Amino acid sequence: MPPYEEFIEAIKPLWDTHMLTNMGTYHRQLEKELAAFLDVPEISLTVNGHMALELAIQSFDFPEGSEIITTPFTFISTTHAIVRNKLNPVFCDVKKSDGTIDETKIEELITEKTVAILPVHVYGNFCNVEEIQRIADKYNLKVIYDAAHAFGETYNGKGIGNYGDASIFSFHATKVYNTIEGGAVVCKNHEKYERLKDLKNFGIRGEELVASVGANAKMNEFCAIMGLLNLKYVDDVIATRKEKFEEYMAGLAGQKAISFFDFSKVSQRNYAYFPILINKHSKVSRDEIYDRLRDEGYHARKYFYPLTSDQACFKNKYIKNDLDVARKLAKQILLLPIYDTLELSDIDKMSDILTKAIG
Ligand SMILES: *Cc1c(COP(=O)(O)O)cnc(C)c1O
Repeated sequence: MPPYEEFIEAIKPLWDTHMLTNMGTYHRQLEKELAAFLDVPEISLTVNGHMALELAIQSFDFPEGSEIITTPFTFISTTHAIVRNKLNPVFCDVKKSDGTIDETKIEELITEKTVAILPVHVYGNFCNVEEIQRIADKYNLKVIYDAAHAFGETYNGKGIGNYGDASIFSFHATKVYNTIEGGAVVCKNHEKYERLKDLKNFGIRGEELVASVGANAKMNEFCAIMGLLNLKYVDDVIATRKEKFEEYMAGLAGQKAISFFDFSKVSQRNYAYFPILINKHSKVSRDEIYDRLRDEGYHARKYFYPLTSDQACFKNKYIKNDLDVARKLAKQILLLPIYDTLELSDIDKMSDILTKAIG
């Protein structure tokens, strides 16, 4: 959070203008500043990352019942956004090396009903964007990236949000950069921006004109102000997170029972997460380690376990190939806490608990 006094000072004008929402001054300013920070042509701000994804998908007007090839190794929002658009997710397995969608398994899942690929830059680790684009071009499919984890990251010197036909970001309180709740769709052209404006504001075009059917998913001015202030500090926050990351690595690198994802494609990491995999060389299971950390007051997360495809609401639907790698990763994955105010001494203690447990 930004300094309290700074926030209070920044929201004062709202008591004069009473302009609390409806794409006001701060909303417009944040759209500009964030597009520049993310190095993308234009963004449309939304009330949260989930609605950004739901509306981004909706903006393509895919026929009902169409199929979207996606990953089950993600937050449940990714799959919900597809299903709530009355489209069918087709789950593709992921790669052991980095947890992103296995691009070599996408083509075999394509049918006449396939309209898009929806991969996730999981933990801020990049998908194989070139190969995914090649497949999409070959079969005339859209590519929509869930980039909720990849805030501020660049690939080949370009903002990661430039890849595919659309990308979405989340600015939820738990993310590396927050607007309390919030999200954005990267718009590659202004037509998309206008479409998203309709979708997030009831399709209202004028006082007496509703031109299309739309939801309400606008970001309010309080959140936009929070976002403007947090943007001033996000580089510092990421730099501090890097220190935490390095402290963890000093304690855990070289442990045979712990595997790490290959992040080598990411030149500028945001250190949003610290994922580790507890592999077969460990004396105890991932769950046991999770419990031991919790007993000492540390809240790690089994993120993502279970796979979204295996959740009660989707179980045994939509699965067309095996998801062996994803299931294995889901059993091994553990996210250790990482945030800018985390004490290095706590990191050392967690590393200690872990190395003792794995043996
Ligand atoms: C957080 C997250 C979302 C949803 O964003 P919200 O802002 O929480 O609605 C979607 N996808 C992934 C991968 C996420 O981590």
